[in-house]
Amino acid sequence: VSRFEGITMAPPDPILGVSEAFKADNHELKLNLGVGAYRTEELQPYVLDVVKKADKLLLEKGENREYLPIEGLAAFNKVTAELLFGADNPVIKQQRVATVQGLSGTGSLRLAAALIERYFRGAKVLISSPTWGNHKNIFNDARVPWSEYRYYDPKTVGLDFEGMIADIKAAPKGSFILLHGCAHNPTGIDPTPEQWEIIADVIQEKNHVPFFDIAYQGFASGSLDADAASVRMFVARGMEVIAAQSYSKNLGLYAERIGAINVVCSSPEAAARVKSQLKRIARPMYSNPPVHGARIVADIVGDSTLFNEWNAEMEMMAGRIKNVRHKLFDSLSSKDKSGKDWSFVLKQIGMFSFTGLNKAQCDNMTNKWHVYMTKDGRISLAGLSLAKCEYLADAIIDSYH
Ligand code: PLP
Repeated sequence: VSRFEGITMAPPDPILGVSEAFKADNHELKLNLGVGAYRTEELQPYVLDVVKKADKLLLEKGENREYLPIEGLAAFNKVTAELLFGADNPVIKQQRVATVQGLSGTGSLRLAAALIERYFRGAKVLISSPTWGNHKNIFNDARVPWSEYRYYDPKTVGLDFEGMIADIKAAPKGSFILLHGCAHNPTGIDPTPEQWEIIADVIQEKNHVPFFDIAYQGFASGSLDADAASVRMFVARGMEVIAAQSYSKNLGLYAERIGAINVVCSSPEAAARVKSQLKRIARPMYSNPPVHGARIVADIVGDSTLFNEWNAEMEMMAGRIKNVRHKLFDSLSSKDKSGKDWSFVLKQIGMFSFTGLNKAQCDNMTNKWHVYMTKDGRISLAGLSLAKCEYLADAIIDSYH
């Protein structure tokens, strides 16, 4: 008898499982709005032209495939911190940032979680309710205790700002407050600049550590600088900040697994020590990160022509999603005769829209309309085309009522 007999079947992943169910459906009108990956208007995956160019240049250079150092490609680590904090940010000049290349956003978050587990034993991470489903898995696997702060208000399909502030205030001093830098996943609801200031006030007052997950820099508004404003505001206050970055969405490098973890410290000496410990955590986990995505990012950012092309393509992608958002709102407003206010669709930002549909209504979306989405009511607008907006609006209205 197998010694693995006692291992039970794991449940499918709530996000990636949606794509599996979608593949198994043969209906011609089926729509996959589950996973957050950009699609063209023809609903095909998209490789950025600038990435193709960078790939070609890399091939011509014929670089070797030697191991990277544990902390990753130096040229990548330099530009990734500059993109996030701004190249002339004093924290960079003062060498107060510990930057380590990670396995995209997920792997970078996992490194930070391990650092918290090791050096802040017992400290809690506060995550928004709701949040990206994998956050809980990451902290559970790293054995970091977490609890939730209020974020989403179902009554307004907007931000529960008072609840958020009250819960951050009530957390034990020195907690880690996980914040989505921009384009909150799954709700698409971000605090206003004024609200960000108040959040920073409370975090500072309680001596908490702001811990940013920024997976959509440049992809939300189309501007790298605008989307990093929240992170930069905290840093400008002189606060110590953790920030995990991802290039999955803004460069379409999903499968290359390229991102970074940054820890802004109060001194260059602390930053050097933190970096040494992040490397120590990475070494037995995966030894060193993959090189290809790191070279692509470093080469694109390091060349002004390629960099401008990247920005133009990012604007194009963000623009397509905004167009789809408007069309969906128009379709919902004109088709729905119940008088429901759909303006929340327009107020949300980024790749997702939180529809407010409950689990039974989501089941109706999938079972009757062949629209695949996560059961929390989130739809990925990046997987929607203008041509499919009317069909989706019919499905949503039918499921609501
Ligand atoms: N954080 C958030 C909020 C996300 O939405 C995602 C991806 O969907 C990630 C992190 C990590 O993605 P990746 O590991 O591909 O960079």
